[in-house]
Amino acid sequence: MVLDFIAPRHCAVCGRRLQSAEKTLCVSCLLDLNISDYFSGGSGNRLERTMWHRLPIERAAAFMTYDHEDAQHDMVLHMKYHHQPRIGYHVGRLMSRQLVECHFFEGIDVIVPVPIPRDKRMQRGYNQSEQLALGISRVTGIPIDTHVIRRLPYKISQTQLSAAQRQENVKGTFLLNTARRLPFFQRRNPLALRGKHILIVDDVITSTATVRECGKTLSQIPDITLSVLSMAVSRNLINNIRKGNPEEDPLPAPP
Ligand SMILES: [Zn+2]
Repeated sequence: MVLDFIAPRHCAVCGRRLQSAEKTLCVSCLLDLNISDYFSGGSGNRLERTMWHRLPIERAAAFMTYDHEDAQHDMVLHMKYHHQPRIGYHVGRLMSRQLVECHFFEGIDVIVPVPIPRDKRMQRGYNQSEQLALGISRVTGIPIDTHVIRRLPYKISQTQLSAAQRQENVKGTFLLNTARRLPFFQRRNPLALRGKHILIVDDVITSTATVRECGKTLSQIPDITLSVLSMAVSRNLINNIRKGNPEEDPLPAPP
């Protein structure tokens, strides 16, 4: 590609110069990904089962696993905190191409990315879950709804909280948007989604508290079905799920 000589592109994670066939991430970073067991699209994987007793969901999948010490964690940090929204878009496309093969998206009507509080969005300039959703929508053609639900700031910062305290802290931080209190361009009648199958897209799952709270709020819409898709799930959570203790999540929250 001639443009690569004029304006070289670099890997969004390691910074290495990209070859013409590479997009956003280099082959080496892609090969480093730990593809999770929870990506089969099959029914009843552990992630699904963990959520079943807390939130009635149809399907759940996470593309990869990550730990604080591996390349995936770098990718998550770059995507969330280093102004690299294109990682989310790219991974969104990558994972949905594979999930399409497993019929994961069958029957899903609309994608709802987990919102972030307004101050965080202003600070970062984007919502990383929305970027993932854009990539998924590009491959699947499923529309995105970013106005049905919104996120309030945490009561206290999550950084130093234990897993149990974080679950408590996230309670009540999601609200369905009602037309009356919003400017006209954000107005959305949640009842427009009545009877729909909604895919909640979350960037990373370190504990299931956020996605469950988001799902619980969306469940106020009558007759909806929920599914969940995430780019990454923390290995600590997986280990705890394996031990039959899904509520314990000793990983500290990102800053
Ligand atoms: Zn790289």
